[in-house]
Amino acid sequence: MSFKMVADHAVWPLENDAIFGLAAKAKEAIEKYGKDNVIDSTLGALVDDDGNLICLETVYSELKSLPNADIAAYAQVAGQPDFLEAVQDACFKGYKPDAYIKAVATPGGTGSVRHAIWNYTNPGDSILVCDWFWGPYVTISEEFGRTVTNYELFNDKGEFNIISFKEKFEELLKKQKRLVTIINTPANNPTGYSLSDEEWDEVLNIAKENAKDPENKIIIVVDSAYIDYAGIGNERRKFFTKFSHLPENIFVMVAYSMSKGYTMYGMRSGAAIGISSSEDVANEFYYSAMHANRANWSNGTRAAMSVMTNIAKDPAKTKAYEDEVNSTKTMLRKRADAFVEGAKEAGLEILPYRDGFFVSIPCSNAKKASEELIKENLFVVALKKGLRFAVCAVSEEKCRVSPAKIKRVLDNL
Ligand code: PLP
Repeated sequence: MSFKMVADHAVWPLENDAIFGLAAKAKEAIEKYGKDNVIDSTLGALVDDDGNLICLETVYSELKSLPNADIAAYAQVAGQPDFLEAVQDACFKGYKPDAYIKAVATPGGTGSVRHAIWNYTNPGDSILVCDWFWGPYVTISEEFGRTVTNYELFNDKGEFNIISFKEKFEELLKKQKRLVTIINTPANNPTGYSLSDEEWDEVLNIAKENAKDPENKIIIVVDSAYIDYAGIGNERRKFFTKFSHLPENIFVMVAYSMSKGYTMYGMRSGAAIGISSSEDVANEFYYSAMHANRANWSNGTRAAMSVMTNIAKDPAKTKAYEDEVNSTKTMLRKRADAFVEGAKEAGLEILPYRDGFFVSIPCSNAKKASEELIKENLFVVALKKGLRFAVCAVSEEKCRVSPAKIKRVLDNL
């Protein structure tokens, strides 16, 4: 089709979302062959062993008990004030940095990522993310005339590749004098990798070294979408305290999401949380994000904000909610362990997994591999550099047997 009505900047390929397309195919296969005979590891949502979406009871009983007016009313543009307090506690859980911190409600973590890219880069800038990354970073960047540069996430030893990070970080900063880098940790999508506290020190040392040039502006975005399913207790939140007393030309923003931790994917709620040693920088962030809220979606989902706030205000509800999340986390851990164990036995190479919803399998022809696996009724997402298996969506038993099936198909490609 050559005739175009949309303006030049809004011309994009006429194609549907590949992951949702594959999920629809998996559904068809389940209808045809029965759910016991199909492994659907496509979507990034928690599903029970019978294939039903997990919806936390504590969250939905709270939602359903809200007065209609609390669901129907507009929220404030920046978000309800009590939510903006509650969301900081939910994010940092005792590991709050000693800094000026401001939060603005956004529709999911996506909204925060959008604000980070738009509000902190100039036209034509490149943002820095690792080579195993969440696709929408590119979609959002493209939408705004920005590009994405990748560093290699892993070195030969399967550790965070700090050398590759440093090289790309300094290359872009030298050219642009400002840099947004998004680090999706803990529980990276798609690999399940979480930066260790020592790896965070290395990242921050590079940032601090480069911050000595006062012309440089460094923005570190922590995409914490899967944080509630990482580590034991709150151990994977310790790194937040490292964002205390940073130079004022290093700004940290957490893209906080309620989608996974509250199983409120479609309720579209989260927050952009800005952290700075400078009160002015924190305030500037707040008003800039609030303006962006007004310009894009006006305000967020009030009912979702109320659910978090009400649970946080009542210790009994908090305990019940945390117990529910923890039992889901245990289920996820068992599934991931089963997959990792199965991979070891089958001799299937996987990327280092630490936490979260996904495990990745590096391979050269992922698209072909995914197509071949569909013939075996195993649905996995093909990425540029490999396959993504969603342990969040597959029973422990099926997680155990999947690696051998994948290995067989990869060996015969
Ligand atoms: N970041 C990553 C890596 C994700 O996988 C997701 C959701 O899939 C998000 C952010 C944001 O999700 P939401 O906008 O639903 O909070």
